Amino acid sequence: MSGPVTYQDASPADTAPATDSGPTLDVLPSRNADVAGLGVRRALPRRSRRTVGPWCFADHFGPTLPSPGVAMRIGPHPHIGLQTVTWLLEGEALHTDSLGSEQLIRPGQLNLMTAGRGVAHAEESPLSSSMHGVQLWVAQPEATRNGAADFEHHAELPDVDLGAFHLTVMIGGVAGVTSPARAETPMVGVDVASDGGRTIVPLERGFEHAIIVVAGAVEIHGEIIQPGSLAYLGTGREELPISVAEPSRALLIGGRPFGEEILMWWNFVARTRDEIDEAYRDWDAHSDRFGDVASDLARIPAPVPVWARPA
Ligand code: MN
Repeated sequence: MSGPVTYQDASPADTAPATDSGPTLDVLPSRNADVAGLGVRRALPRRSRRTVGPWCFADHFGPTLPSPGVAMRIGPHPHIGLQTVTWLLEGEALHTDSLGSEQLIRPGQLNLMTAGRGVAHAEESPLSSSMHGVQLWVAQPEATRNGAADFEHHAELPDVDLGAFHLTVMIGGVAGVTSPARAETPMVGVDVASDGGRTIVPLERGFEHAIIVVAGAVEIHGEIIQPGSLAYLGTGREELPISVAEPSRALLIGGRPFGEEILMWWNFVARTRDEIDEAYRDWDAHSDRFGDVASDLARIPAPVPVWARPA
C-alpha cells in the first residue's frame, strides 16, 4: 500500500523548506497513481506541497469492489527514515516485517512501523473483500532516523465525540484525548466521521494542518472538499469549523512544520543522494541492514536512483 515516490511527486532538486503560512485554505488535487495494481489518490507529496508537519506521504486507495481471487499483494520492500501509518476503512491486511512481526489489521486499528536505519515489510489482503484505506508516511527527525526499527499495532485507539462528529485519534492528541502511538515530533493524525452536522475541532496553533476526505464531502469555509484532494489549512489556527451534509470520513493530519529538508526516493526518506544510493545498494545486495521478511511474495527490486542512471 506504500510508495513508490517518483520525480512526478517530488523532485529532489526542488526541495522547499517548511514555511509558516498562517491560516489558509489551499485545495490541491491528488495525483492518480498505481500501487501493485491498486488505484490510489496520492495527496502527498506534491510539487507544491511536500510535507504537512512531519507527514510526507499520503495515498488514499479504494474502495475497491469485492472480486474473488483478486487481493492486494505487495512483496517485501525496504524503508528508511520514516514511519508507515496504515489505516483501513474497509477490508483487512496482513503485515509481515523483518522484525518478525506478523499482524492482521482491521478497520479502526493502527499499524505503525518505524523504519529508522532500515526495515523491510510485505503487505497483503488475505480476503477478496473490498479494500479501502489510507497509507501515510511520517518523516523521522535527525534524532531518530538512524535508530532501530520498531513496529506497533494498536487494536483500539482513544476516541471523542464533538457534537455529531466522532473523532478517532490515531497519533498525537485532540480535544484532550491522546493516542498511545509513538510520535517522534509534535504531530497529530485523527479520523473524523459524521453522518451530518457541524462542529468545531480544536487545533494546535503552532501546527500546520490538512484535511484528506476519504468518503462523502466536508465543507470548510464554504468550500466543499471531496476525495481526491488535499485541503491545506496552513498554520496559526486554534480551531477548525467543519460541516457535512452526508455520511463522510476525513483524515485530519498536522504537526509542527518539519524543520529539516528531506529527500525522498522510492521507499526511502533521507537527506542526501549518498544516503539514498547506499540504501539502494544495501537492498540490492540483500544486506543484513534490512533483514528478511517471512513472506511468499516476491521481493520488490529497488529502481536505480534517477541521478545514478546513464544519461
Ligand atoms: Mn511499505
